[in-house]
Amino acid sequence: MERTLSIVKPDGVRKNVIGEVIRRFEHAGLRIAGLRMLRMSVKDAEAFYVVHKERPFYASLAQFMSEGPIVVMVVEGENAISRVRQIMGATNPKEAAPGTIRADFASDIEHNIVHGSDSANSAAYEIPFFFPTIEIF
Ligand code: UDP
Ligand code: MG
Repeated sequence: MERTLSIVKPDGVRKNVIGEVIRRFEHAGLRIAGLRMLRMSVKDAEAFYVVHKERPFYASLAQFMSEGPIVVMVVEGENAISRVRQIMGATNPKEAAPGTIRADFASDIEHNIVHGSDSANSAAYEIPFFFPTIEIF
């Protein structure tokens, strides 16, 4: 069993696809082990994406991720990290495989609906960023 952190980003909440994202995870046999809606400050978003702090898109990304509420979730299952990434599709929706969340709903490389941890190391940072142990079931 593996756990990963996924986020319905502000554009996903705005586009009314919270349920659709969760449905796709559940339909794939993954289990929602934690779930919450919240809004990050710019500083929260900078801390969450600190691995990208040298990237040119960092400031814009932190702005975007704090512009409205998000839904954060812990997703659990066998190979949950890579399977969530597959269901999400490539970062750039133009390159995302047909039938993935990003191919179906994302408008551009920044506003791409959903986040998923990219490795066990990332998940180990990202899950406790939002979830205390007593909120993971
Ligand atoms: N992003 C962006 N421009 C880029 C690459 C990424 O705005 O050229 C944003 C996008 O929202 C992406 C996030 O930064 O989801 C984190 O980038 P990463 O490379 O980690 O992509 P992901 O793991 O989300 O597919
Ligand atoms: Mg990433």
